[in-house]
Amino acid sequence: MTMPAPPSPVHWRLNPEVYRLIGMRCKDCGHITYPRRKVCPKCGSFNTENHKLSKKGTVHTYCINYVLPPEIEPPAPIAIVDLEGGGKFQGLFTEVAKPEDVKIGAKVELVLRKILTSRGIAMYGYKVRLVEEG
Ligand SMILES: [Zn+2]
Repeated sequence: MTMPAPPSPVHWRLNPEVYRLIGMRCKDCGHITYPRRKVCPKCGSFNTENHKLSKKGTVHTYCINYVLPPEIEPPAPIAIVDLEGGGKFQGLFTEVAKPEDVKIGAKVELVLRKILTSRGIAMYGYKVRLVEEG
């Protein structure tokens, strides 16, 4: 069985969603979603525009994954983040000493990191990092 080729770095660089965090904002109801869609998932409107997402937010919910692709070492906390100004982002945590440190409501920021290497091609994207409060 052959594995599909991983997408090239150029593909990701040219996609505004991945590195520039461009989501979608509905001009009718104001709902913000990421990744972008052609139709607003809240009201069904096609009247949408690009929306630059914040890199700051709070943990909406999370889980700690133990079954992952071989390139990612478990345990790996994965969060859904409520972004400041609207929108949600789902991603792996980075730089977490203990998975127990992750809490619902914790302040986080999105940071660009290597997600994994597949067949010699490094794939980058945003990960979630806890922010020190104080
Ligand atoms: Zn809408």
